[in-house]
Amino acid sequence: MSELNIVLLGPPGAGKGTQAARLQEDFGLQYIATGNILRDAVRDGTELGTKAKEYMDRGDLVPDDLIIAMIKECLQHERANGFILDGFPRTERQAQALDEELEQLARTLNAALLIDVDEQAVVERLSQRRVCVKGQHNFHMAFDPPKHPDRCDVDGSRLVQRDDDRPEVIQHRLRQYREKTAPVIGYYERQGILRRVDGSRSPDEVGDQIRATLAAVRFEEQV
Ligand SMILES: [Zn+2]
Repeated sequence: MSELNIVLLGPPGAGKGTQAARLQEDFGLQYIATGNILRDAVRDGTELGTKAKEYMDRGDLVPDDLIIAMIKECLQHERANGFILDGFPRTERQAQALDEELEQLARTLNAALLIDVDEQAVVERLSQRRVCVKGQHNFHMAFDPPKHPDRCDVDGSRLVQRDDDRPEVIQHRLRQYREKTAPVIGYYERQGILRRVDGSRSPDEVGDQIRATLAAVRFEEQV
C-alpha cells in the first residue's frame, strides 16, 4: 500500500486535532501538528520557540519562513504510512513550499481535507476546550469531558484554558483564517485534491465521513 499524505484544513475549533488523532491511530500516519510543535518549542525555550512566542501571544500567525523550516525538518524524519499535517499550510505561500519540498522527496499529497463549520459554532466550541498543564492532554467540556471537571484523566494535573482559546483571541484567529487560509482552500481545489467534510456533526460522524472519503481517494488512485 502506498503512503497516505493528508493536509487537514478548517477554521480553528473545527475539531482538526480530534480527527487527526483518530487518523493517526486508524491509518498509522505521522501526525505533524504545528501548534503542538510550537508550544513544545515555547515551553522548552528553544530559539524557534522564543521567536514564535511573541507572534503567538498576540494571536498572530507565526511567519512563513519559521514554519516552513520546521515542517521541512519534520518531513525528512522517518515516515510512517504517511503523514497528517495540521496547522500547515496556512497561507498559499506555505502550500507552494510544501509542494516543492514533497517533490524533492518524491512524495505526493493525496488529499486536502476541509472540515467545514460555521464561525458561531467555532466560538462556542473553542471556549469549551481545556488542556492539562502537565502533558497537554486535550478535553472538551461537551464532546470529550474529563471525569472530573478540572482534572486531567490521564495524569491528574490541572485543566486550563489556553490563552488562544479566549473569545477575543478566537475572533482574531477567525479573521486571520478568513483572510489568509481561504486562498489555500482554492489552491487545493484547483489541484483537484480538496475534499469537504461536514464538521457540524458529532466527532464520531465526522470521523466516519473522513474514513469514507479517504477510502474513496485510495480507490480512485488505484483505478
Ligand atoms: Zn494530562
